[in-house]
Amino acid sequence: MDLLGLTIKDIEESLKKGVFSCQELVKESFSTIKKHDKKINAFLTLNEEQALKQANHYDNLIKKDKNIFDEKPLLGIPVALKDLFTTKDIRTTAGSKIIGDYNPPFDATVVKKLIDAGAIIIGKTNEDAWGHGSSGENTDYEVTRNPYDLNRVPGGSSSGSGAAVAYGGVLVGTGTDTGSSVRLPAGFCNLVGLKPTYGRVSRYGIIAMASSFDSIGHMTRTVYDNAKVLEVTAGVDPFDSTTVPIKVDQYTKKLGQSIKGMKIGLPKEYFVKGLDDKVSNSIKNSLKILEKLGATVKEVSLPHTDYAMAAYYILVPSEVSSNLSRYDGIRYGGSREMFGAEAKRRIMLGSYTLSSGYYDAYYLKAAKVRTLIKRDFENAFKEVDVLIVPTSPTLPFKIGEKVDDPLQMYLSDIFLCPVNLAGIPGLNVQSGFVDGFPVGMQIIGPQFSEELLYKVAYLFEQETQYYKIRPKFKNG
Ligand code: GLN
Repeated sequence: MDLLGLTIKDIEESLKKGVFSCQELVKESFSTIKKHDKKINAFLTLNEEQALKQANHYDNLIKKDKNIFDEKPLLGIPVALKDLFTTKDIRTTAGSKIIGDYNPPFDATVVKKLIDAGAIIIGKTNEDAWGHGSSGENTDYEVTRNPYDLNRVPGGSSSGSGAAVAYGGVLVGTGTDTGSSVRLPAGFCNLVGLKPTYGRVSRYGIIAMASSFDSIGHMTRTVYDNAKVLEVTAGVDPFDSTTVPIKVDQYTKKLGQSIKGMKIGLPKEYFVKGLDDKVSNSIKNSLKILEKLGATVKEVSLPHTDYAMAAYYILVPSEVSSNLSRYDGIRYGGSREMFGAEAKRRIMLGSYTLSSGYYDAYYLKAAKVRTLIKRDFENAFKEVDVLIVPTSPTLPFKIGEKVDDPLQMYLSDIFLCPVNLAGIPGLNVQSGFVDGFPVGMQIIGPQFSEELLYKVAYLFEQETQYYKIRPKFKNG
């Protein structure tokens, strides 16, 4: 058995037919992790004993009732959780040493939903501390490496979840996307990653980064698997008042439907200087494939794009400084000295932009720009159904290349942050491979258009099949 050769659908069929048991599946997951993780550093904590016990329990349930899958659609599926998903009795660090010994007394809503659906929690994954970063290098632990090339970053901040799915340790890795953190690691690790509409998935029990931006998403190898997991995790939650009582679509049911006549917009502001030609060419080729599938492509404009990063780096640090203020070593967390450089930078920046005299000049201005950016997207969606842009302006970069230059690092998210400012969904699907590295393509849609994004991505994925390419562990 080999997890990289399996999808959620395959696993359900095999468990029903008894091709393998849940226990065998979970053992395979841990043996793959033990084989690769010393080099990759995707995991901070493993949940082996509990996972095997759960698998044994599910094997007995399957023996008794083959229809158990109707009730538990993710039965037996090995899942890794980003370490800012609160897990009852499993250490939860948010990638930071400040709360390095925190054992939460409760599960986040998403965790509870995954467990109720039969998923097996394999472990907690490495990340940029508190979600601050684009490469995984801001973790307070060992840096996660990209399974396609161990000298390169896997993308952040959900770096461990991305790497763990990419090397076949688990089928699903959860993440949070405040400005990039599900889509970027998905793009750098040849995965599907969806940042849903803000409010589609509950944030309850997720350690907050910037509360008006944080969106909970998942990384998987295929579109079907991603859609299947979102069916479980999406929906209204009484513990999160920003979740929206809009029906959760049966995303998997629409996969395979034609996209004939669909209008795709190319925002001209995204295809500019700074975008690597290799990435740009890959996206252009992908657009040709989408045209072959029946879509039409036209240029559109998102005129306020230039202001997105500036607005993001005022609003997000403001919310960060407020959310991190509870870890002052008095109420929660260890000594404040233990905050890493990036967390300190954001706390200072946010305290400054929220202080009296500067609030109007910075915070309020940025909030207004946010509205303009949201409107840009709304206007574009009057002309087209979805937008397509590169996920990252560059190929996965080398470890150490940008870590000492925060501005360069921030620019990795230039095509991703605007989506969070607007609260709309964005999905990364693989556009192709260049020089042996994955290149991601982002499909952006209006609020609550997840079903549409999956539909487009699925047809593209079936046509191209890049998900069958396996990591080479280059330089390993
Ligand atoms: N890279 C972005 C930042 O550092 C976004 C991170 C995220 O989405 N958690 O703010």
